Amino acid sequence: NAIWSNVEMGPPDAILGVTEAFKKDTNPKKMNLGVGAYRDDAGKPYVLPSVKKAEDEILKTGLDKEYAGIIGVPDFYNAAIKLALGSDSSVIKEKLNVTSQAISGTGALRVGANFFAKWYTKSKTFWLPTPSWGNHTPILKHAGLNVNSYKYYDPSTCGFDFKGAIEDIKKIPEGDVILLHACAHNPTGVDPKPEQWKELSQVIKQRKLYPYFDMAYQGFASGSTDTDAFAVRTFINDGHQIALSQSFSKNMGLYGERVGAFSIICSSAEEAERVMSQVKIIIRPLYSNPPVHGARIAAKILNTPELNAQWLKEVKGMADRIITMRQRLRDGLKKEGSSRNWQHITDQIGMFCFTGLKPDQVERLTKEFSIFLTKDGRISVAGVSSNNVDYLAHAIHQVTK
Ligand code: PLP
Repeated sequence: NAIWSNVEMGPPDAILGVTEAFKKDTNPKKMNLGVGAYRDDAGKPYVLPSVKKAEDEILKTGLDKEYAGIIGVPDFYNAAIKLALGSDSSVIKEKLNVTSQAISGTGALRVGANFFAKWYTKSKTFWLPTPSWGNHTPILKHAGLNVNSYKYYDPSTCGFDFKGAIEDIKKIPEGDVILLHACAHNPTGVDPKPEQWKELSQVIKQRKLYPYFDMAYQGFASGSTDTDAFAVRTFINDGHQIALSQSFSKNMGLYGERVGAFSIICSSAEEAERVMSQVKIIIRPLYSNPPVHGARIAAKILNTPELNAQWLKEVKGMADRIITMRQRLRDGLKKEGSSRNWQHITDQIGMFCFTGLKPDQVERLTKEFSIFLTKDGRISVAGVSSNNVDYLAHAIHQVTK
C-alpha cells in the first residue's frame, strides 16, 4: 500500500528554514534577517496606505468575481509595461510588446521559461549571474532549459566584478540567453553603475545574446521607479528585443496577492500577435488565468494620478528607510570599534546586503545573538529597524573582530 515508498524526504527551502528556526528561538532580542519582505520601523509587515485606499475603492464599486482572460486584467498589464518602459515608450506605441499578467515575478519567470523552451530556437541555455536568486535555476530547469553562470559578485570587494562579468559574457555562445537583474540584485545588493550597464548592453549586443530581465524591485532600490528602470530602458534604446519579468510583491507590498507581468518585445506588431497567441497557449494549461484582486489594486494605483503619486512617495519611503538602516549599521560598526571596511553596506542597494560574513561567523551570529540569516551572509535590511540596528552592529562586530 505504500505507493510512495520511493519518495525521498526533500531538503527544506533554505530561506523558509531560517524562519522556522527563528520562530523556535525564545530570545526577546532575536532578529529574522532571512525573509525578503519589507518591515516598517516597528518591525511589522507594512500594507501601503495607497494599497488600502485602492482596495477600498474597488470594494465600493462592487465588481463581480468572473474570470479574467488568460492574460489577466488589461488595465493592469498595460499599466505594468508602461511602468517598466516609460509612458512615452515607442515600443508600446508601436505595439511591439507582448505583455501578460502573471502569477507574480516567479510565475512570470516560469511562463517565460516555458515560452523560451518551446519557441526560442537559437539556444536552450540561460546564463545567470554568480550568485543569483536561488529560485532562478529550478524555474529554468523545470522548464527543461540548461543553466550556466557568469561572474558577477567579487567577494574581495563585496562589489560588482565588472571586469570578470565582461570577460565571461564575451565567451558566451551567440544566441544564448543572459539573465540580468534589472536593479537591486538578489542576493548581493550589488548593481552595475549606469556607465557599466551601457557597456554591458554593447557587449551583449556584439555577442548577439538575448537579454532577459528579472525586475522584482522597481522603485525599491533607489526610491524612484524611473531610476530603477535605467537598465531595461537603456537596453531597449540600444535596440535589444528583451524579455521581462515584473513583480509587484515588493514595490507595492502585494506579496501574497501574486501580482506580476511577463513581456517579450518583438520586431513587429504582426510578430507580437503571433507570440501573444502562443503565450496564451502556454498559460492556459498551467493555471488557466490569473487571480484578479491584486491586479485590480495595482491597476487602480497605476492608473489613478493621485493614488499613483501617493504610491510613489510610499515606495520612496520604504527605499529611504532601508538606505537609512544601511548607514546606521555602518556607523554602528564604526562606533563599536570595528576597523574593517564596511563601505559595501552603503554601496549595495535594495532589500539585501551581502555582508561578506563567513559561514562560521553567520553561525555565531545565530547561536550567540539569535540573529537569523542565510549561510551566504545575506541579510534582509528590511528586517533591521531603529530598535535593533545597534544590537546588530554590536553582534556583527563581536563575530568579525
Ligand atoms: N526575482 C527575484 C530576483 C526575486 O528576488 C524575487 C523575490 O524575492 C522574485 C523574482 C519573485 O518574487 P515574487 O514571485 O514574489 O514576485
